[in-house]
Amino acid sequence: MVVDKYYKMGIAKSRIRVLFEYGMDQAEKVGKENVFDFSIGNPSVPAPEAVADTVRELLETDPIALHGYTPAGGCAEARESIAADVCKRTGTKVRPDNIFFTCGAAPAMTSCMHAVAVENAEILLIAPYFSEYPAYAASSGLKCVVVPPDTEHFQIRFDELEKRINANTQALIVNSPNNPSGVIYSVETLQKLAELLTRKSKEIGHPIYIFSDEPYRELTYDGLDAPYIPSIYPNTIICYSYSKILSMPGERIGYILVPDCCEDSEVVFAAIAGAARALGHVCAPSLWQRVVARNTELRPDLATYDANRKTLYTELTKMGFRCVKPQGAFYMMVAAPDGNSEGFSERAKELNILAVPCDGFGCPGFVRFSTCVSPAMIQRSLPSFQKLAQSYGL
Ligand code: PLP
Repeated sequence: MVVDKYYKMGIAKSRIRVLFEYGMDQAEKVGKENVFDFSIGNPSVPAPEAVADTVRELLETDPIALHGYTPAGGCAEARESIAADVCKRTGTKVRPDNIFFTCGAAPAMTSCMHAVAVENAEILLIAPYFSEYPAYAASSGLKCVVVPPDTEHFQIRFDELEKRINANTQALIVNSPNNPSGVIYSVETLQKLAELLTRKSKEIGHPIYIFSDEPYRELTYDGLDAPYIPSIYPNTIICYSYSKILSMPGERIGYILVPDCCEDSEVVFAAIAGAARALGHVCAPSLWQRVVARNTELRPDLATYDANRKTLYTELTKMGFRCVKPQGAFYMMVAAPDGNSEGFSERAKELNILAVPCDGFGCPGFVRFSTCVSPAMIQRSLPSFQKLAQSYGL
């Protein structure tokens, strides 16, 4: 016998995967250059050369130490280096003991969720939200409560959020820059959020934690920055990942940061470590802990993503589509002209344009386009977008 819930999760293919695989089949039929795949968020810019250089250097060091287990939270060298870097970047005090290395943001978020999943616990997801969050929460017993989207500015609908907070609320996920909207929450939004959560935490008699999911932290444009949330709301736990920032999602490396300003930080840290252990976490890949620790100065190469976002936004807006201007990450949401996102995605697919309906992100009526693609593909796709616009009478 197997658990039906997991069996169903195991055979269910994500919408993104289905489109991606369709694109590969279609490329065989009509030629790769005639398929415009905007479905998947796989970085299209190579990892910085320093990454490969560091791997080569490390491979010359003692292999027993290099490939051996590290402590569950990561080796001392790596935790020290990350802590020092966060201190430098944020002007706050972070110690190595605040850092717990993970295999990317996914297990970081999953461990945090499990750590707070007391009986009847609820976690708030602000739509649009990353479609995998319910899967991360699935085995914890945490109930995901969705706050409907602000489809004008893609910030937070505070009236709707407040209605959904109750004594069972344990945490709320912030993902900024956001997948799928590309929007960065403003300082004003975060301050308002901090005020509300502080007031509600007092009312219900326990802290409501923010889990800040940050795989896109440094992927920001137009000189914007994603604010460091613990400086605005102390009860924030950061889930950081190098998957997108250094273009290495397959290497599985990231970390959890539980800052000292977080209430009961040592207890929270221990519970997260315990949850990670219960979920089978032994240690994050030891080679990659050391690679990121030695490259804290590296920043993503934004030029291609920035050019792509500008081209797609400008051209599609000119054609009459309503686009949400991305401020960060590498996605852009476009409103279905008739409000039917499934129909929009299907109609685009007939023109070999592949994009994901945002229904699974809690935001029906919009479709997500990944802009981590080749600039040449965007140029080739424009005549097909024009046909799509015409088909809607734009
Ligand atoms: N969170 C968000 C918002 C994401 O977009 C992704 C990946 O696309 C993840 C988490 C998972 O990231 P990782 O590869 O670091 O596990």
